[in-house]
Amino acid sequence: DSTRALLLSRIRDVPDYPKQGVLFKDITPLLADPTAFAALTDTLAELCVRHGATKVVGLEARGFILAAPVAVRAGLGFVPVRKAGKLPGATLGQAYDLEYGTAEIEIHAEDLSGDDRIMVIDDVLATGGTAEASLELIRRAGAEVAGVAVLMELGFLPGRARLEQGLRGAPLEVL
Ligand code: 5GP
Repeated sequence: DSTRALLLSRIRDVPDYPKQGVLFKDITPLLADPTAFAALTDTLAELCVRHGATKVVGLEARGFILAAPVAVRAGLGFVPVRKAGKLPGATLGQAYDLEYGTAEIEIHAEDLSGDDRIMVIDDVLATGGTAEASLELIRRAGAEVAGVAVLMELGFLPGRARLEQGLRGAPLEVL
């Protein structure tokens, strides 16, 4: 529809970033457009409410930019998932495979409770590895997964397939 067209029109393709052969989807033009940023925030906030979320988890770093205003808009808490070593308190960590090597993300488990239903928000679903690992963290912290919502998926990567198992029937929302 028209909101989706507006949002996608504000995403800039940057060739050969961060390395040769990669076409990077840059969301900074969307963030700089107040109408588009508000429309994205509203759309994601509606999804959170529709799926009964009680908190929003944002994935470092662009996921923070989207998830924080969505949390405020929807009246929900915000919890960051960060790269290992960045959170000061007691953390749960989850390692996952990258194309070359591994990465690890962490969460403050005490910020989630057994009553929470979590919507995970990020800008782009690429391989799905980060989102999949975040679902593990959420469940290990004792909370339920309400779903994953992203602005866009890179259709040529198997992100959706990789996430499917981890979702256990929860929705993957792509705008
Ligand atoms: P994944 O784990 O799905 O492979 O990708 C993880 C992270 O890489 C996501 O948090 C996403 O923000 C970032 N990412 C990968 N490719 C792109 C891209 O083309 N554009 C943007 N904005 N982020 C990307």
